[in-house]
Amino acid sequence: MSAERATEALPDAERARDAGGRGARILDGRAIAQAVRGEVRELARALVGRGVVPGLAVVLVGDDPASQVYVKNKDRAAHEVGFAVRTLRLGAETTQEELLGTVRELNGDRAVHAILVQLPLPRGLDAAAVLRAIDPAKDVDGLHPENVAELVLGSGRGLVPCTPAGCLELCDRSGIALAGRRVVVLGRSNLVGKPLALLALARDATLTVCHSRTRELADVVREAEVLFAAVGRAALVRGDWVAEGAAVIDVGINRLPDGRLCGDVDFEAARERAGAITPVPGGVGPMTIAMLVRNTLLAAARQSGLEGVIAASTPAGQEPSAPA
Ligand code: NAD
Repeated sequence: MSAERATEALPDAERARDAGGRGARILDGRAIAQAVRGEVRELARALVGRGVVPGLAVVLVGDDPASQVYVKNKDRAAHEVGFAVRTLRLGAETTQEELLGTVRELNGDRAVHAILVQLPLPRGLDAAAVLRAIDPAKDVDGLHPENVAELVLGSGRGLVPCTPAGCLELCDRSGIALAGRRVVVLGRSNLVGKPLALLALARDATLTVCHSRTRELADVVREAEVLFAAVGRAALVRGDWVAEGAAVIDVGINRLPDGRLCGDVDFEAARERAGAITPVPGGVGPMTIAMLVRNTLLAAARQSGLEGVIAASTPAGQEPSAPA
């Protein structure tokens, strides 16, 4: 599809430009995430009124500086919406057996509805085995094989990984439709790319998934009406890879040598062509944390038989499955 045709297919909301008519609509992830967190706070109050305080346990192993920041932000966001939060900081010398023991303890703790083991784990620890050990009902990051299977099936019964769910929520609340449209997902990790692709497919996107072995990547990306970039390479996506009017959701968080953060997309160049684009920081990042608190709320409601109380807030990927 040519860039021109991609533009024609875009709804008005995505063609909307800023007042000067230059550049893309900037999708404010912070504002959208704040709205989601406000809704979660209200619903959490309704659960507390019925005697259930949503409980989140965050497990941090070792002293990775980025992980420390992420965990602090998650802890704060969960406190703010009225959850009971327990952050367990384990030393870098923690053994696999000790970590599995901690997970088993949390699985058995009725006050804990959601368990998050911050990744990456220090070398020597088997993350896949740890994720498998988490009770799927409490697996707030949606990475247990049972939750992955529910996502593949489109059952709406599992918990969906927070970053991909956040990308969809951002689209939904920004008027960016996926149904029938050419959607390109850059990256195929278990954490982001694959679940994002499954969510887009469940929304009836016409889907292309690209990765490190994709040939003529720029040409494939130029076909996208909606582009999700989750690669981890600073400014890999050049401005002229972006179709006129496309929506660009940049998941990447890359630290530049000068200390600044940068996405996977060359933001300044891409905003000249895109119809809508997320900034980094302030785009997908805050949405990830908003989805963490919403998944925790959902897990608490399900485990307490109170799903009906929060039914108004259906997280992305929890809807009934799409047609074949
Ligand atoms: P990953 O390293 O596990 O996966 C990267 C993917 O990109 C792989 O599938 C690989 O095939 C693909 N890739 C690598 N180089 C490529 C290239 N040159 N061309 C095409 N594809 C290429 O990373 P991840 O965990 O999926 O994270 C991706 C990015 O998203 C990172 O920058 C990470 O920091 C960021 N991230 C952000 C959030 C958030 O909350 N905003 C959450 C998770 C990850």
